[in-house]
Amino acid sequence: MASGWALAHPDAAESGRASRAAGAMRRPGERGRMHELALCQSVLSTLAEQASIHHFDRVTTVRLEIGALSCVSPEAIEFCFAAVTRGTLADGAGLELIRLPGQAWCLECDATVAIDERHEACPRCGGYRLRLVQGDEMRIKDLEVV
Ligand SMILES: [Zn+2]
Repeated sequence: MASGWALAHPDAAESGRASRAAGAMRRPGERGRMHELALCQSVLSTLAEQASIHHFDRVTTVRLEIGALSCVSPEAIEFCFAAVTRGTLADGAGLELIRLPGQAWCLECDATVAIDERHEACPRCGGYRLRLVQGDEMRIKDLEVV
């Protein structure tokens, strides 16, 4: 339950960005918010690093891959990204989130299978001897810069 609230939050679809932020702040105990903020800060430091290596001044679009099992809330990411990049080289940059499906290696089937949740049974054999291979990561796929 704790891992799913952010993605399935009932207010998320209807409320504006500001009230979602307020909602997030009313939950100081939710480790997830800090997680997304830290992720966005690390994205920003990667952007700054890339800017000095590749000599660009502004980032206009960032494409992020987010694993379906990562427990990261896309809405929180969008909010944190906008907040963290304000006044930086990525101020106002568009953010595109690409959801990566979960994949696991089933020891019984000796094959890669798709899973929607952590600790889910193998869809082929129903077994639980699965090793996660993709779906809990978040990374920068690519950037558009000027
Ligand atoms: Zn299996």
